[in-house]
Amino acid sequence: MAENDLTVTLQQQVQAAYADKTPLNIVGGNSKAFYGRQISGSRLDMSGHRGIISYEPTELVLTARAGTPLVEIEQALATQGQMLAFEPPHWGPGATLGGTVACNLSGPRRPYAGSARDFVLGCRVINGKGELLKFGAEVMKNVAGYDAARLMTGALGTLGVLLDISLKVLPAPQQDLTLIQSCTLAEALNRMNRLAAQPLPLSASAWVDGHLYLRFSGADSAVAAVKAREAGDVLADAAAFWHSLRELNLPFFAGTEKLWRIALPQTAAQPELPGDWLVEWGGAQRWLRSTAAEDDVRTQVAGLGGHAALIHGGDRAGTVFQPLPAGLWQLHQRLKLAFDPAGILNPGRMYEGL
Ligand SMILES: Cc1cc2nc3c(=O)[nH]c(=O)nc-3n(C[C@H](O)[C@H](O)[C@H](O)COP(=O)(O)OP(=O)(O)OC[C@H]3O[C@@H](n4cnc5c(N)ncnc54)[C@H](O)[C@@H]3O)c2cc1C
Repeated sequence: MAENDLTVTLQQQVQAAYADKTPLNIVGGNSKAFYGRQISGSRLDMSGHRGIISYEPTELVLTARAGTPLVEIEQALATQGQMLAFEPPHWGPGATLGGTVACNLSGPRRPYAGSARDFVLGCRVINGKGELLKFGAEVMKNVAGYDAARLMTGALGTLGVLLDISLKVLPAPQQDLTLIQSCTLAEALNRMNRLAAQPLPLSASAWVDGHLYLRFSGADSAVAAVKAREAGDVLADAAAFWHSLRELNLPFFAGTEKLWRIALPQTAAQPELPGDWLVEWGGAQRWLRSTAAEDDVRTQVAGLGGHAALIHGGDRAGTVFQPLPAGLWQLHQRLKLAFDPAGILNPGRMYEGL
């Protein structure tokens, strides 16, 4: 495993960019270039800043440099029977830890275990002035600066260049079982919500093409009890299915219409928008392939208490994420000014002017 600490070089690059007011485009493995708004800027390459700095399986904590490939981290955890419980999507072979945390991307286990943000214990970053900042810690009891580390998670690199990240990791389950049931989308939403209210080891749920997929994970005895009790056919190659869903490789994602990722309260009604749907996260994440007007999608989703992000298609120089209410927009602007006063870090990646 390659190890390399480029902190000093990266810091000098950001300091020079701050002095010249040069916008920077922070690039890890470049697997998520399509995600968010299109930006221009000098490339700040994070891929050389890599390596697992520390891993304490008994403490369930791992710290790695941001450019470390996600596969390297997952392999190290697997040797100890542990995992990243938020099941991060890679969206490409070069996915890095930094890019994953910057996007706050989480996979099928998200509603049952937590999001990427929930597992970030601390981080070291370079702010937009080229200063080194440290937030949080490598232990779960220390909460000093914890919230700032979470703020960096999902900021798409607009508030700081992530250098090292400490994550809470979890033991991998002894056993997984995926059951499939045929049903309509409305029935699937009902069943997902009914199951979520029961003491069952549910670890993923998705409605795809007329079928509800339910994954249960845990001790052998707990999973055997589910199998005896719940209806449905056992899916043989379940790991491949959940992997394909996480990586957007199912046939649904290959369509040509715009692809929307819609976040909603789990019990929200189904939006009345034309197109094809795929629902996961117990109803909290609903994917839509549609030719509907962007404004219609956003207005209707906002009315149901959610937000819509354009994942594929549409104008990448326009609006991609749900526009923010005035108060939140002001808060974002103030945070941006505090962390990146010259506006050089991934400017406009999330919203125009931020
Ligand atoms: C199981 C579950 C329970 C939930 N419970 C609640 C709840 O109790 N209360 C509640 O209010 N919501 C709740 N939600 C909704 C949840 O807060 C939204 O889904 C959330 O806003 C999406 O953030 P995320 O970090 O999960 O996803 P992300 O993938 O981070 O967000 C989607 C996109 O928005 C961007 N983004 C993230 N944060 C911001 C931000 N602050 N400003 C602008 N852009 C941003 C990201 O870069 C990303 O591109 C719940 C969702 C789930 C799945």
